Amino acid sequence: MLILTAGQFGEAVARRLQFDHNPNLPELSVAPLCQAREELAYLIPSHNFIAVVAWRPHVALLRWLDEQCEQAGSHWMFVEIDGQTMVNGPLFAQGSGRGCYHCFVARGDAYLRAGERTRALRQAYDKDCTLGPVGFTGPMVEIAAAGVRRAQHVLNLKACEEYGRFRRVDVLTGTIMESALVPRHDCPRCRPQGEDYDPTMRYQADMVPLLERLLEGA
Ligand SMILES: [Zn+2]
Repeated sequence: MLILTAGQFGEAVARRLQFDHNPNLPELSVAPLCQAREELAYLIPSHNFIAVVAWRPHVALLRWLDEQCEQAGSHWMFVEIDGQTMVNGPLFAQGSGRGCYHCFVARGDAYLRAGERTRALRQAYDKDCTLGPVGFTGPMVEIAAAGVRRAQHVLNLKACEEYGRFRRVDVLTGTIMESALVPRHDCPRCRPQGEDYDPTMRYQADMVPLLERLLEGA
């Protein structure tokens, strides 16, 4: 397993995982997330499972990482603090059809409010890797480490029903929202469409039989 860390939070979670690591299991490697992309691209193919643990969002970098992992066939997940929320997962298992990081961001953006503020923050974060609110608590480290261990366990067991599941932990109230990622219909990665794809055909294929049934009952 490779843990890519960002900030003191990422380092603290990596130390926790190293402390618990079973010496009989394959080696646990740790590297910084924010380093030259050529270096990261070199590291990724040697690891079957990669966990990113970050103190704040890195959307552009994780989009790139997602593509690299897909090309390398490496499964990956992330834990990140985003304001007062800690996002834990999902596990992106290559070839599972359970969605990719692009799907996750798009679904989250459709669900969460404050879109303009979120976009402005992401742009600022992408430009400066030192920008962000510093601070975390011990329990957040424990929850994050447990999330990484769980993702590795799910992968080892090939527990497909758990792929794509994630949690949003409100670190102030303790509320945990658990959900599952649904791949986007128009994601070129998860649901590739032929050049002759016509979205109106899907509409007709779904709606015409339904309307016929409704009209029969009228
Ligand atoms: Zn996707």
